[in-house]
Amino acid sequence: MTHPAQPKASHFINGAYVEDTAGTPIPVIYAATGEQIATVYAATPAIVEQALSTAKAAQKEWAKMTGTERGRILRRAADIMRERNHELSVLETYDTGKPLQETLVADATSGADALEYFGGLAGSLTGEHIPMGEDWVYTVREALGLCVGIGAWNYPTQIACWKGAPALACGNSMVFKPSETTPLCALKVAEILHEAGAPAGIYNVIQGMGEVGGALVTDPRVDKVSLTGSVPTGKKVYAAAAEGMKHVTMELGGKSPLIIFDDADIDNAVGGAINGNFYSSGQVCSNGTRVFVQKGIKEKFLARLAERTGNAILGDPMDEATSFGPMVTENQMNIVLGYIEKGKEEGARLICGGQRADMPGYYIHPTVFADVTDDMTIAREEIFGPVMSVLDFDTEEEVIARANDTEFGLSAGVFTNDFSRAHRVIGQLEAGSCFINSYNDAPVEAPFGGVKASGVGRENSKEAIKHFSQVKSVYVRMGDVEAAF
Ligand code: NDP
Repeated sequence: MTHPAQPKASHFINGAYVEDTAGTPIPVIYAATGEQIATVYAATPAIVEQALSTAKAAQKEWAKMTGTERGRILRRAADIMRERNHELSVLETYDTGKPLQETLVADATSGADALEYFGGLAGSLTGEHIPMGEDWVYTVREALGLCVGIGAWNYPTQIACWKGAPALACGNSMVFKPSETTPLCALKVAEILHEAGAPAGIYNVIQGMGEVGGALVTDPRVDKVSLTGSVPTGKKVYAAAAEGMKHVTMELGGKSPLIIFDDADIDNAVGGAINGNFYSSGQVCSNGTRVFVQKGIKEKFLARLAERTGNAILGDPMDEATSFGPMVTENQMNIVLGYIEKGKEEGARLICGGQRADMPGYYIHPTVFADVTDDMTIAREEIFGPVMSVLDFDTEEEVIARANDTEFGLSAGVFTNDFSRAHRVIGQLEAGSCFINSYNDAPVEAPFGGVKASGVGRENSKEAIKHFSQVKSVYVRMGDVEAAF
């Protein structure tokens, strides 16, 4: 790979790039061509130890700085990310295969938003004064200590920042392990944070598969684990963290409902369904992959959806005209193609797509199935690819029950022009991140996260501060101490 932004080595520890070729080589494949563009090496036990001991040692001094000082560094890092948005976006495209049209506006920019937002909050993290007659209690919002972040492969820059920014704002240090599939971007986040003034050891990145993640999660020096990944991995990581009574944030998968009532603006609803299924070629956890359409508008909705989906431009992700990229890996492509076959076998009606694109790379045409029923595999399991299931419904009561009939609870959306109904329905949907007449907006100011099997805790917003800090309460007695003897 000849890109100027290519990281210089596999790991970033104690403020510098570190290489250890004794680790298992991890080829980095560009999904648009299938070519290997780089190699990183999984962390050896020595690298894991170096990262953890460095982060542990650096944290205390970082926490002693004022919040304003910490925040200034985060905000400087945000500015650098914005200045380098183009090269970081190109790197994100190499890492994930997502089209530049997306990465230019959704990845380094979203990471910079998180650094700026939490940088701004860092100076305001105060406690309370609680009067108790002449005595009083005060509370102090303290850092948790050493935090581990583990990322999924779909948003490598964003996830590294969404976890790192609030962690650092609160005075924690972090060891971040990206997905082995997309190992490059988090290294640039570490590099930029240190260039902006973060002390060595505050934000470290090490590579590896699940076993490296496992070694981090079980280490007794680690105080908190924040994972973005699938539900099965989440269950393992949550259980391992519980052994050490560690704090956790789990941002996991979904099979979210998007409900379209017959009074909705059809084009807006189609736009919501497209954003909620085909952005990043469907590799988004919060996607509204069960699109419930009220029967009166079903055929009109499907016709408009097929027409607009036909406008997707599959092609070279580096060409800014391309609006639809490949799956992240050949393996993920095959998983998604397997689900498409299941949809056909189980009797869903294929409206468009349904096959691999006839071009190099791991492209699948955006796929829409209609007449999907609740029991079909494609309506029950998270596919993590461009496969939309359209289901019919008659009544509000019925659709709420069916929408909630899933182990997941990440997101939910409603399209209707009846605002009473919109709020009534959203009020009954079991989901953490909801949308009315929109889908998949994720501003840093809004809490993001799931209920049920989709996770615990929230990222972004002031909520994230609660998950990266703890409250110490101090009772202060002004008079004498009474005791029984
Ligand atoms: P995985 O669950 O396969 O992996 C997530 C991360 O955990 C990877 O870095 C992985 O390493 C690591 N890991 C795997 N096993 C362990 C273990 N035992 N201990 C510690 N770490 C481990 O998810 P994917 O990368 O496949 O990402 C897709 C999933 O992520 C989807 O289910 C999606 O819904 C979810 N997701 C959720 C989001 C949210 O915010 N709610 C956002 C984005 C995605 P490695 O891959 O290197 O083996």
